[in-house]
Amino acid sequence: MQMIIDLKTIPGEGKKYFSYTLDRGWWSPGEDDYQIESIETPISVELTIYRVERKYVLDGTFKGALGVSCDRCLEPYRQEIEAEFNYFLVPTTGDSEKDELELVEEDIEVVFIQDDKVNLNEIIREQLFLSLPVKCLCRADCLGLCAKCGCNLNVNSCECIKAQGHPAFATLNKLKN
Ligand SMILES: [Zn+2]
Ligand SMILES: [Zn+2]
Repeated sequence: MQMIIDLKTIPGEGKKYFSYTLDRGWWSPGEDDYQIESIETPISVELTIYRVERKYVLDGTFKGALGVSCDRCLEPYRQEIEAEFNYFLVPTTGDSEKDELELVEEDIEVVFIQDDKVNLNEIIREQLFLSLPVKCLCRADCLGLCAKCGCNLNVNSCECIKAQGHPAFATLNKLKN
């Protein structure tokens, strides 16, 4: 789905509203971003854009659920997400030093735009990653993978545990004593 907004359509006064629903087909994993695997519940995105002098302010919210891989066991699980975000959309001057100055002066994130067009795909992708918890876990007590044989300890038990004790159990034992 193309989500390019032509900012020439934003009125001089007042706000313009946009809403999108991003479903499974919208997501395509990039090369580096392995963590998000899919969209589980369509993500509803609401945006407001208005002008401030030669710039634009973009305020947005989204809500939905992603299929995310667990940091411990690497299995995908469902992660509810909900977030708010704000950007300044600033026409690039074509002069990187001047552009740099703009970045320093604003206290909210700046996106430079060319030809009065903003590509929402990139902004929303970035926001989806930012909305993930610091640690993505399928469940708080996920046991993860065995460091020795690599089996998923949530579903299997292996001989390695009996042999030397899994770190998680070792910690538990410490707490008990
Ligand atoms: Zn897990
Ligand atoms: Zn093992």
